[in-house]
Amino acid sequence: MERRGLLFVISGPAGAGKSMIAKQLVERHPDVGLSVSCTTRAPRPGEIDGVHYHFVTDEQFDELVRKGAFYEWANVHQNRYGTLKSTVQEQLAQGHDLILEIDVQGCLQAMEQDSEVTGIFVSPPSRENLEKRLRARGTESEESLNIRLHNAAREVEQAYRYDYIVVHQDWDEVPDALDRAIEQVYAIIEAARAKTKHNMRFLNALSASLKAGK
Ligand code: 5GP
Repeated sequence: MERRGLLFVISGPAGAGKSMIAKQLVERHPDVGLSVSCTTRAPRPGEIDGVHYHFVTDEQFDELVRKGAFYEWANVHQNRYGTLKSTVQEQLAQGHDLILEIDVQGCLQAMEQDSEVTGIFVSPPSRENLEKRLRARGTESEESLNIRLHNAAREVEQAYRYDYIVVHQDWDEVPDALDRAIEQVYAIIEAARAKTKHNMRFLNALSASLKAGK
């Protein structure tokens, strides 16, 4: 029988490139899934309900919190975001390895409640690079840029609690920085899959079949 799926949480400061890394990783490696969260924020142009997020009202979110439906949830930039327990349970029970691309508060909640969760922190190489990436988005006012840099300081302070740090290098200095970051995250997933404790079912079945001689 197949093993249970493994859970990976990825976060890092806004602008570090975590959502780009997570999205491209699952496109390139379809053996890994990306969880779809619930959010109270309005859809952006091109975002599809059920694909990018489950878009819910404040009342619906309150009700989900009340029912204990969330595996984790947090307030991020004045909106609420949460991962449904049902999503995590169904995917893992089917043996699918799953990534949650969520904020630092959510990752810490997930890692605290389950020691089997692997936490991956995507970091910019420097403050200057993070500021450059945020400015390149062209969507940040000076005030929101400063808020994001201030939040980044708090998030990096929590990075020691993660299992792995992936530095997303500067594209001008390392042209294949995105590829490298994606493959580094995938290498972490492959290493977790290869852990002995995740292969006991396989080892026991092989051992039994060798002993039985058939
Ligand atoms: P955006 O609104 O730009 O899609 O996402 C804003 C932030 O919310 C990102 O940092 C993203 O990682 C975080 N986020 C998205 N889904 C979840 C979730 O289910 N739980 C938590 N805690 N954070 C989330």
